[in-house]
Amino acid sequence: MSHIGSESQPLRVAIIGAGPAGFYVAEHLFKKKELVTKVDLFDRLPTPYCLVRNGVAPDHQKIKSVTKVFDRIAAKPGFRFFGNVELGSDITVEDLRRYYHQIVYTTGAQTDRNLNIPGIDLKGSHAATEFVAWYNGHPDFRDYEFDLSQEAVAVIGIGNVAVDVARILCRTREELLESDIADHALEALSESAVKDVYMLGRRGPAQGAFTPPELKELGELQDADVIVLSSEAELDDLSQAAMAKADRGTERKVEILQTFCSREPVGKNRRLHLRFLVSPIELFGDEDDRLESMRLVRNELYTTPAGTLRPRPVDEYEDLPVGLVFRSIGYRGVPIEGVPYNDSWGVIYNEAGRVVEAESKNPVLGEYTAGWIKRGPSGVIGTNKPDSVDTVEKMIKDLDAGKVLTPSMPDEQSLESFIQDRQPDYFSFADWQRLDEMEKARGEAVGRPRIKFTRIDEMIAAKNASI
Ligand code: NAP
Repeated sequence: MSHIGSESQPLRVAIIGAGPAGFYVAEHLFKKKELVTKVDLFDRLPTPYCLVRNGVAPDHQKIKSVTKVFDRIAAKPGFRFFGNVELGSDITVEDLRRYYHQIVYTTGAQTDRNLNIPGIDLKGSHAATEFVAWYNGHPDFRDYEFDLSQEAVAVIGIGNVAVDVARILCRTREELLESDIADHALEALSESAVKDVYMLGRRGPAQGAFTPPELKELGELQDADVIVLSSEAELDDLSQAAMAKADRGTERKVEILQTFCSREPVGKNRRLHLRFLVSPIELFGDEDDRLESMRLVRNELYTTPAGTLRPRPVDEYEDLPVGLVFRSIGYRGVPIEGVPYNDSWGVIYNEAGRVVEAESKNPVLGEYTAGWIKRGPSGVIGTNKPDSVDTVEKMIKDLDAGKVLTPSMPDEQSLESFIQDRQPDYFSFADWQRLDEMEKARGEAVGRPRIKFTRIDEMIAAKNASI
């Protein structure tokens, strides 16, 4: 009898979530030359690439070019894409077990971490994730509205997402035209009245979560002066001492911030203020619950028993008049029905990529995870590659030990018929490629990298018209 992974009985794998981790899992499976593997990659959107399309900033086209790598993976024999197919509604985990030997969840971190302070739900206070998805044209967010008639905006957090949000708020229309920002966002941001953007770090300059190139870019904006207060750029004694053991990246960040600090504003139309050692403690609104200001408390750093520097409030306050706030304090995963989920960490319960039961920690047969839903929202796109390799190694080990699901319909056609029945408007990779060509052609006509489709029904109509 042939074994699973042979020509007559290929290993059938379903990957849920067509972001970097999903593609890297597929890539590593295809690298196993001794195995014949058929991979079906599912996404709830018609378009692949997840975070690369809907999260990476539109003015970072170079980072977005990683999609070329994903396209090469998609061109491998044995790869299929099923876009516009949602796990939980169009297909369930139970269904998947009938068609696949192994299932891999790579659904990422689709929502934001909460900040529980009074007033956080006032009108004008938003999760940065919503703004990011909106300006990138994610269909679920394209009708969101942000009050860009406000002159002062705060971004809470100083990670790279906060940097993206602040930078996009400060860009001129001319700068945005070079990006593939969604048209609705381009128009809204072109009319923006924003003058002052405050990025709020609860710790000091040496603890910024941004990376040096992203920080440096903030000093190169066409029409925004970057402002750092010298009182906040100075390192406190604990940070100073920690610098002796700091890596090059941290040194570089501190150097860049010192340069910003020594600059005189040159009267650009916008000002980007990088603030340190402050935490928002309350948001205040008007009688219509519309945000008007936020109260900040000053922090000092202290050393935890584990040796990290953490913030704690001192009795000093400041009110910042802001009409718009973006909370950018990290992403969080979203649970999948029927898959063990660790709510406090926002990840699927797993051991090095093997999904495990919440209580017993016993492996769940045939189920795996990779990427942010496995380890939390950290690292850059490339971090997902070794992470996915690690998961695939566990999958192969289990396959070798005979620990796989026993699907009743492992042939490719049965699954396709099932999807056809459940979601006739599904997108194959070829369908996506046609959409991609259309977006690029629409962009080319006006000298932009692409003009995105931002509604699913538009995407379906374009697909049907192109067949
Ligand atoms: P992040 O890097 O984890 O940064 C989160 C920020 O929120 C930190 O400054 C953190 O401060 C702050 N924060 C957390 N809780 C807070 C609280 N209660 N009050 C105030 N501030 C709080 O998360 P992210 O910016 O969402 O980025 C996620 C990942 O994507 C990161 O690995 C990032 O590098 C990556 N990314 C990369 C790029 C790029 O390469 N261009 C672009 C976007 C995102 P503490 O440090 O004090 O906790």
